[in-house]
Amino acid sequence: MLDMKAISKVYQTDMVQTHALRDFNLHVAEREFVAVTGPSGSGKTTFLNIAGMLEPFSGGQYCLDGVDIGKLNDNARADLRNQKIGFIFQGFNLIPDLNLYENVEVPLRYRGIKSAERKRRVEECLELVGLAGRAKHLPQQLSGGQQQRVAIARALAGRPRFLLADEPTGNLDSLMARQVMELLEQINREGATIVMVTHDPELARRAPRNIQIVDGRVTDFTLYQGRSMDT
Ligand code: ADP
Ligand code: ADP
Repeated sequence: MLDMKAISKVYQTDMVQTHALRDFNLHVAEREFVAVTGPSGSGKTTFLNIAGMLEPFSGGQYCLDGVDIGKLNDNARADLRNQKIGFIFQGFNLIPDLNLYENVEVPLRYRGIKSAERKRRVEECLELVGLAGRAKHLPQQLSGGQQQRVAIARALAGRPRFLLADEPTGNLDSLMARQVMELLEQINREGATIVMVTHDPELARRAPRNIQIVDGRVTDFTLYQGRSMDT
């Protein structure tokens, strides 16, 4: 599914160059569930942004389902992203002038799904995250944790084959965090490939595969169940 070979990412700001990723190698197979941990500033978010085709990389090769991302133009890349990838990102904002229902519906419109099916999925997903009663509310009328749940509903409604999550339980209390993790596990069983960045060692331990990013590199590949590591 995802194949990164010798990926590098250099940020240039004024006089300063930051190597956010260097010689970054990772293979994620179809239907894997990978938790990514690592110290702050180690490159986790940069990795997710590149994996989601939200920003370009400086060197190396990234293939998604055999498609060489570096060779695509902007439109082709955006199409591929809309087709395959779902995001649960803290910074990936909800659209402020759309109510919750409409926000969750966005990826379904992108995919050309018919209106009756859209309605069914949006209602199901809002129900799943406990916000069915709030469908008409605007994002600004919700708490951070509730907005996070809308972002999750939106990602799930699209039934992406590849789900990228950045601290998906960051704003949530422990009960809601567990429920979200269970949701992720469920959609993984149903066939989605998941890559999740988390600071929460307990959450990471629940994922079948853990990797660690340190100084822009993957340091651990395959520590399987019960042998995962803390950050
Ligand atoms: P993490 O998510 O693990 O905390 P990041 O991927 O956000 O790490 O950052 C990796 C490194 O790249 C850090 O040194 C960070 O300061 C730097 N960095 C990230 N984004 C930018 C940017 N837009 N401009 C300059 N430096 C950046
Ligand atoms: P848009 O604003 O249309 O959503 P993108 O988010 O796709 O644009 O990309 C923002 C900028 O970064 C564009 O100029 C695009 O060329 C570049 N870019 C984004 N992702 C990649 C990538 N994976 N490889 C090369 N360039 C990229």
